Amino acid sequence: MRVFSLENVINEFEVLSKDAGRQQTETLRWILEQNGEAEYLQSLGLAGRTDPESFKACVLDTSPVLTGKPITSISLSSGTTQGKPKFVPFNDELLQSTMQIYCTSFAFRNREYPIGNGKALQFIYSSKRVTTKGGLTARTATSNVFQSEQFKHTMKDIQSQCCSPDEVIFGPDFQQSLYCHLLCGLIFSDEVQTISSTFAHSIVHAFGTFEHVWEELCADIREGVLSSRITVPSIRAAVSKLLRPNPSLADSIHNVCVRLSNWYGVIPELWPNAKYVYGIMTGSMEPYLKKLRHYAGSLPLMSADYGSSEGWIGANVNPSLPPELATFAVLPNIGYFEFIPLEKSEVQDLEKSASTIHYIEAEPIGLTEVEVGKEYEIVGRHREGSRLPSTPEIQFVCRRSLVLSINIDKNTEKDLQLAVEAAALLAEEKVEVVDFTSHADTSTEPGHYVIYWELSCDATEEVLRACCNCLDLSFVDAGYVGSRKVGAIGPLELRVVRRGTFQTILHHYLGLGAAVSQFKTPRFVGLSNSTVLQILCRNVTGCTFSTAYGP
Ligand code: AMP
Repeated sequence: MRVFSLENVINEFEVLSKDAGRQQTETLRWILEQNGEAEYLQSLGLAGRTDPESFKACVLDTSPVLTGKPITSISLSSGTTQGKPKFVPFNDELLQSTMQIYCTSFAFRNREYPIGNGKALQFIYSSKRVTTKGGLTARTATSNVFQSEQFKHTMKDIQSQCCSPDEVIFGPDFQQSLYCHLLCGLIFSDEVQTISSTFAHSIVHAFGTFEHVWEELCADIREGVLSSRITVPSIRAAVSKLLRPNPSLADSIHNVCVRLSNWYGVIPELWPNAKYVYGIMTGSMEPYLKKLRHYAGSLPLMSADYGSSEGWIGANVNPSLPPELATFAVLPNIGYFEFIPLEKSEVQDLEKSASTIHYIEAEPIGLTEVEVGKEYEIVGRHREGSRLPSTPEIQFVCRRSLVLSINIDKNTEKDLQLAVEAAALLAEEKVEVVDFTSHADTSTEPGHYVIYWELSCDATEEVLRACCNCLDLSFVDAGYVGSRKVGAIGPLELRVVRRGTFQTILHHYLGLGAAVSQFKTPRFVGLSNSTVLQILCRNVTGCTFSTAYGP
């Protein structure tokens, strides 16, 4: 019998984080000792030294992966940052640190919102499994985690066992898995304590689908027979075992669904014992919060931890903060982290007398040397821009490598998100921006920004024109404003795409081996991403140009 003590987990976390500097040195020593035999480390001339100074002197930050222990499998990153998935080694250490971070943030969550014994409605999905030339299994990092025994034990420890059988999580057809997650969630509706997914997008997507399939779900529950849309034999067999004719449950679901106004609060209505909704809600997930709050009604939203296929970075130990303010406490024993200070500097562009923001990069510093209020790029096993309000809690700002740019202008995914938020407010009450992305069109002179919007229903031309002008004016980066004023960047173009376009984009990524569990809509689509660009262009139903800087 495993004994899981929340207090122990929290105490352990506190001991670790109070002594973060020593922990980092120890962690680095441990990593270098474990991997001392690795060919790569041998070639750097560390000669057995394991201290931070020697490490900094010998290892450049472009270092390839260090590993001395066997790699158990390969993780495929989502590929939504660089356009194509990266192959990252996965091993038991990574699995252990994943469990550590799950338990740590759960302990803090449970202190404020205790859950009882029960189940979790988790919208989690595995990716396709491929075998590398070297004979290793490659799939997304989340799939590597979900299939492990430790994951199942940990979920049991933290009272978060998934309602759905493994056949649903690992099913080969995402739509069928999604339908069955919903069905299993409804079958166990009394027991469900939490609703979650890795990234919040999956929850919003699931309830968007629920709006269309709820009657079919009710029919399955009423008759005790699984819909013919489920054709994968393993999924059919596993889910059919859970299904019994239950007309009273079907009636109560039906009554809730017909009573709701535009699906507001559907989650607590159907899962009355649910305590909160949980998943990554920061960064590129923020645009989905509005819809998520709509479905969640009175239930609190809790943002999950910060990590990547390469490794974890921090846990959300202040779960009651709204997702927009979420911070992550870096766990000093799960990796060795360096931070590149990013200073914004106004650089005058003489020719156009516009100024643009460049980051001045300084030498990387250690975890305990970071200063409150400054922005840094994290160098661990990957790179991000993050803001550090207090040691060692960080706030996610954006992925630094992603920028929308024509010439001297620079706008991050955060800038785009803020512009879209401002413009969306102008859309009529009933019209929602379901999803969005952008493209820097330089095929004509001068180049211009193209923003793609998928809307929940048609908007009038007048509204779209107002939104388009608002978008153009919302990019306040000095390089952009200056270039627009002198005509070095042309009027911003807003293109509306058909409903379901972003669903097609999601399917395109799934076809490449990505998994819904790690999907992040690409916010900038470059020419190199020609398939996604073609999907967008094929689906344009209308476009309008900004007149914000004159006709
Ligand atoms: P993947 O490519 O699937 O490994 O996803 C890793 C990326 O997801 C990170 O580099 C981040 O950009 C993003 N990410 C992960 N956790 C968070 C978080 N809590 N908030 C914002 N973005 C996150």
